[in-house]
Amino acid sequence: MTDECLFCRIVAGEIPATVVISNERVLAFRDISPVAPSHVLVIPKEHYPTAADLAKADPALVGEILTVAHQVAEADGIAESGYRLVFNTGPDANQTVLHVHCHVIGGRSMTWPPG
Ligand code: AMP
Ligand code: ZN
Repeated sequence: MTDECLFCRIVAGEIPATVVISNERVLAFRDISPVAPSHVLVIPKEHYPTAADLAKADPALVGEILTVAHQVAEADGIAESGYRLVFNTGPDANQTVLHVHCHVIGGRSMTWPPG
């Protein structure tokens, strides 16, 4: 937990969020500015700034995040229609919150590559 981290404060219950799934180590909540009908962020409850930091420190937790991401897709009814998983990492990817998060985006058709 870092006091100045927005997502740590959501984990601590200090900032409200619409929680989709919560387990011992992972939290999934709805993005405040959704870019698609389904847009959920899946995060570790422990603070790691980027996906690279998390992968180095706790590879098993990366797997737990992907497992929860698929559970979110099933809960939102997009597991069959398809969805996109995105870990924005670093400045060129425009990562704005430095607490690693997996975007689960679906419910509409998407083009590739993204802008
Ligand atoms: P990124 O640009 O990959 O760092 O994504 C950060 C995401 O966090 C953006 O999609 C924001 O809309 C989302 N976000 C920012 N503040 C909140 C909040 N209080 N609750 C839920 N999502 C948020
Ligand atoms: Zn944090």
